[in-house]
Amino acid sequence: VELALGIDLGGTTVKAGVVGEDGNLRSWVTQPSAEREGPQAWAQAGRQAAARAIELADRAATRIGISVPGAVDARRGVLLDMAARLSGTEIDLAALFAEFGLPVRADNDANAALSAERRWGGHGTAADLVLLTIGTGIGSAVVVGGAPLGHGRPLAGNLAGHLTIEPDGAPCVCGNRGCGETIASASALIAAARSQGLDVAEAADVFDAEARGDERAADAVWRFLDGLATIVVNAIHAYRPEVVVLAGGVMARSDRILPAVHAAVAERAWMIPPGSVKVVASNLGPKGPVMGAAAIAFEGNP
Ligand SMILES: [Zn+2]
Repeated sequence: VELALGIDLGGTTVKAGVVGEDGNLRSWVTQPSAEREGPQAWAQAGRQAAARAIELADRAATRIGISVPGAVDARRGVLLDMAARLSGTEIDLAALFAEFGLPVRADNDANAALSAERRWGGHGTAADLVLLTIGTGIGSAVVVGGAPLGHGRPLAGNLAGHLTIEPDGAPCVCGNRGCGETIASASALIAAARSQGLDVAEAADVFDAEARGDERAADAVWRFLDGLATIVVNAIHAYRPEVVVLAGGVMARSDRILPAVHAAVAERAWMIPPGSVKVVASNLGPKGPVMGAAAIAFEGNP
């Protein structure tokens, strides 16, 4: 089995792992992201995680895949833009990881996650699919007629979380206002709970507080779920997929999230025949982002 090193340069954490072509993880490393300290510190965190993942694996990887939450020219392996984060600076991702001496491919994190869903997540045969990744931000990737939308054009299909759902809403990192991401990302859920005076570190804490009957948490969760449902309805109206796959750490609470989204879709989404678009949680779980990074390494010709 050939192995790839997958590196996910996320907004909050950097994750790396060695993944077999069979989808089995051989190693797994996660560490806080230094993104706010600038691209060099961020890449350094990525290289550290990658080196550790290589050490921990039983066999050597032969290629590298890198996923980032931004606009990527996948043909060149270049990060073009990351909204407000690294605005306007082109970064050659392949060069940043050249020290490993392996062929490098890079793509937007949602495109990478889509590649993993099709390869290992049980969605390889869907001709029309929307994937939403819900984390620090919200990413999306779209399959139309069996092929990824846009044929590699940067950001094509990646902005379903950046459709405006509140015209007078908060400014978004992308430059728009009231994007779905400002309401239904994990970080937005945490921020909403904190603004109500709740002491929470992660999205799971907000769901836990809601389950204990905390009304402030319930308000925050309601706003999150209503926003997420709106994003899903918008995605169905825009792309009319067979299936919408929801991925990201918050989907550990799919028992809470899916029924609310299903109810909203049944009530609000127009589709023929009625009820024909499935909305499901990803099967890949918390390892999904690293598997996505590895999946794009396997896609490429080294
Ligand atoms: Zn936005």
